[in-house]
Amino acid sequence: MKRNGIMLNIPPNETLDDDTIGEEHIGTSSETPLRADAFEIGDSMKIKLIENHFREIMHILGLDLTDDSLKGTPHRVAKMYVNEIFSGLNTEKKPTIRLFENKYKYQQMLVEKDITFYSNCEHHFVPIIGKAHVAYISNGKVIGLSKLNRIVQYFAKRPQVQERLTMQIAEELKKVLQTADVAVLMDATHLCVSSRGVQDVNSRTVTAEYSGKFMEENTKNEFLKYISLS
Ligand SMILES: [Zn+2]
Repeated sequence: MKRNGIMLNIPPNETLDDDTIGEEHIGTSSETPLRADAFEIGDSMKIKLIENHFREIMHILGLDLTDDSLKGTPHRVAKMYVNEIFSGLNTEKKPTIRLFENKYKYQQMLVEKDITFYSNCEHHFVPIIGKAHVAYISNGKVIGLSKLNRIVQYFAKRPQVQERLTMQIAEELKKVLQTADVAVLMDATHLCVSSRGVQDVNSRTVTAEYSGKFMEENTKNEFLKYISLS
C-alpha cells in the first residue's frame, strides 16, 4: 500500500478497516475534514463537553477521579485541546498577515529554516514533532519573518497527516505572498511510530511541496543546500 495518503485514490469498492487506515497513515483529503457545523458551538462549551467526555474515558480506564492529582486533568486536557494544540482548526485564529513593499529589491529566495513545530497525528492523537523549512521568492511584496513561523504553527495545531500539513502551509504561503514561487519541506518524528506500533525511534518522515520556480532543479537544489547548512 502506498504511504502517501493524499495521492492515494481509494477505489469506491475497496474499503479499508480502521487499523489499516491508522497504521498506513492514509489521509483522505488535502482539506482538513471538518463538518459544516464545526463552530456552531463556542470554545467554552467545547471545553465543557470535552472535559465531560475525557473524564468518562479516564473513569473507564479505571482511574480514581477523586485523586487530587487526577481530578483537574479532564479540564486541563479540554482547555489544551481547544485553546492550544487544536486551535488551528478555527480559521478565526489564523494569523493576520501584512505584506510590505520589497523596497530593497531583494530578488533571491528567502529561506526560513528550522521552524520547530508540534502537531498531532489524526489517526492516533499523539504528537508529531519536527522542523519545517519554508522559502519564497518575492513577487514585489515581503512578509515579516515571524509570520512564516506563525503560518506553520497555525496549520500544525490541527489533527494532521504530515502530507496535508505540508500542502496546507504551501497553499497559504502562495495565497498570502501572491506568488507561486514557494517551497515547504518538513522533517518530523511521529510518536505513533516511535512510542507505539512499530516502535522505531530513529525513523523520520520527510515531505516537501515545491511550486513555481522551485520546480526547477537549480532553484530546488539551492533551497536544499541552504537548509542543509548547519
Ligand atoms: Zn499516527
